[in-house]
Amino acid sequence: MKNMKNPLSTEIKFLKGVGENRAQSLRKLGIETIGDLLEHFPRDYINRFARQRIEDLIPEERNSFIGEVIAVEKKRVKNKFQLHVVISDGREYLFCIWFKFGKWLQDKFETGQKIWVSGIVTVFAGSFQMIHPEIEILDEDSSPEDYWHKRSVLPVYPLTGTLSINFMRKLVLKAFELYHMQIVETLPAPIIQKYQFESRLDSLRQIHFGEDQKEIWKARNRFIFEELFYYQLMLARSHHQHHHQFQGHVFQLKRTLTTRLKESLPFELTRAQKRVIREIVEDMTSARQMNRLLQGDVGSGKTIITLFAMLLAVENDYQAILMAPTEILAEQHFRNFSNLLLEQLNIKIVMLKGGNYRGKKDDKKRIAVGEADIIIGTHALLQKDVFFFNAGLIVIDEQHRFGVKQRAVLAETNQKPDLLYLSATPIPRSLALTLYGDLDISILDELPPGRKPVKTIWHDEHQKNSAYIEARRQVEQGGQVYIVCPLIEESEKISLRDAETVYLEVSTRIFPDFKCSLLHGRIPSQEKDEIMEKFKRGEIQVLVSTTVIEVGIDVPQASVMIIEHAERFGLSQLHQLRGRVGRGSAESYCFLISYSPISKEGRERLKTMVASGDGFKIAEKDLELRGPGEFFGTEQSGIPVFRHADLVRDQKILVQARKEAFEIIEKDHELCLPEHENLAVKYFAEYFEKEKLFDF
Ligand code: ADP
Ligand code: MG
Repeated sequence: MKNMKNPLSTEIKFLKGVGENRAQSLRKLGIETIGDLLEHFPRDYINRFARQRIEDLIPEERNSFIGEVIAVEKKRVKNKFQLHVVISDGREYLFCIWFKFGKWLQDKFETGQKIWVSGIVTVFAGSFQMIHPEIEILDEDSSPEDYWHKRSVLPVYPLTGTLSINFMRKLVLKAFELYHMQIVETLPAPIIQKYQFESRLDSLRQIHFGEDQKEIWKARNRFIFEELFYYQLMLARSHHQHHHQFQGHVFQLKRTLTTRLKESLPFELTRAQKRVIREIVEDMTSARQMNRLLQGDVGSGKTIITLFAMLLAVENDYQAILMAPTEILAEQHFRNFSNLLLEQLNIKIVMLKGGNYRGKKDDKKRIAVGEADIIIGTHALLQKDVFFFNAGLIVIDEQHRFGVKQRAVLAETNQKPDLLYLSATPIPRSLALTLYGDLDISILDELPPGRKPVKTIWHDEHQKNSAYIEARRQVEQGGQVYIVCPLIEESEKISLRDAETVYLEVSTRIFPDFKCSLLHGRIPSQEKDEIMEKFKRGEIQVLVSTTVIEVGIDVPQASVMIIEHAERFGLSQLHQLRGRVGRGSAESYCFLISYSPISKEGRERLKTMVASGDGFKIAEKDLELRGPGEFFGTEQSGIPVFRHADLVRDQKILVQARKEAFEIIEKDHELCLPEHENLAVKYFAEYFEKEKLFDF
């Protein structure tokens, strides 16, 4: 790109005092250039003259503390050495303890030193301690002519390898002195005025060398805004393209199939369902390509909406495609759709699964020549030899289970199908605005009438019998029970109640006179399906399972969910599991059974589950507890890594940045107005490439 020798993109190794080795370590911190170094922000600040008290430390939390070293001792405990450094505020003591340490560490300490320590504070035998804290000796290495010698506030930078904090401070100072003239403003003037930001230069100065916490945070907010703003610009451009450039099909609401579907339903649609259908119809009947995310809590009735959209495509003689993340789900959709009168409507449904099986070739052919109207499948739909005759609509269920690339493959057919993404896991707003910020979003925020909230009860291991007694009572009255366990086989290391043990126990001791089955990921999929089918038909009363039943499974007669080792599950997962019951008219129960020890976070999760049935609230809490990277579990989710912004902490700034970015793109989508010149330079240099990820 036209990235003309910006001095800030000088490689870091050319800065005096760096060299190859240190450049290597700096690279590990994401610092490749001078510009990166200047944006490597302190993660903490030490105020070396602040008065501190040990009595103010908060146990179980990370604390920073400054005090005086009054004793350094190598102790022998059970044949192993520990290093104990005792720090005092003049009244009380804090014990800093290392179980692993080298001589170099021991030699660092001297009594009388002023020292900063940071770590989790615990209380042991009545005194405060920190295990393996971070430390900084405050008068080490600092000569009177040193810049930092006179400062009361010292930045604490993230470090790696052999880099020392003093080296880092000196390096940032030097880079700033040499290059500060090159730091240009990148935000448009009206935004700077509106939010009363300082200039980019002054903000950087505050962040590295400021002495006032309030000013420092104000400066940091500017960078948080800036980072989110550029990301939102990218989303806004993609959104704009979908709305103004990409041509989609113009479907007509012919009402042949769609109306017959509505008439055949045994229930009235909820207000939210009607609203969302309107939103979808509006997209599909317009000339632009639909690119919409449908979010709804478990049981809010997404299936019927999906079917409605698909029938709208089919009544216009286009194919409608539904991709599900697992075979169980694909098959459930297949059955549901077949049941919902499609045969009478004379619609041909084809299902495509992975692997080789009889009839697959024929199915592919029927898809390619247009003999299939509705196509339901798994990842198998993404294979190169699958051709659609005329894809009018693609629905992607549980879209976060598919990577961005896989979604792109489906959407890339040159048939420009309308796209509808479904999410059964409510996504916290800040994540939705980031990850799916280029999509239009429909929210189903109403459950069908008559749903009773699931009674959620948290029992510890000693009370678990009462859960099983209730389960038995329900089964005697015709109900069905899920029992979910975290692992398949007994592991020797941790005594978890695994699915097999639980199955043996409940089938012999609690439900000997009823039919119990065991379901887990290692059972061949055909057998799995048979078990699920039998459970659905009520031939099995008790289903012991791992989390394979987590998403989407719909068995309205099931009224009890027992979750063993509930303390080990994530919040959104618990909510999903609980959503498997309470789908019928009977009173339903969810028993969360926990085993000690339970972490503080585990307790939080279980408390949240008992207190709330609202998937969106639970999702917000989950995000708060786990952070954005972990929210979707281990699946690839494409959540961007921000340098400065934190999607939990910075939601307000995110919403502001998004609003500004969308307004700018609305006015000037190619960023060619003169007032957007600086903006355009930075945007096209840093973000243009990434745009491609959203280009579908
Ligand atoms: P989800 O959003 O979790 O996919 P489903 O579409 O599976 O939810 O719907 C859950 C259950 O609610 C199904 O049994 C469905 O038939 C039923 N349902 C959907 N919409 C309504 C409604 N408006 N009134 C009553 N029941 C409904
Ligand atoms: Mg569903």
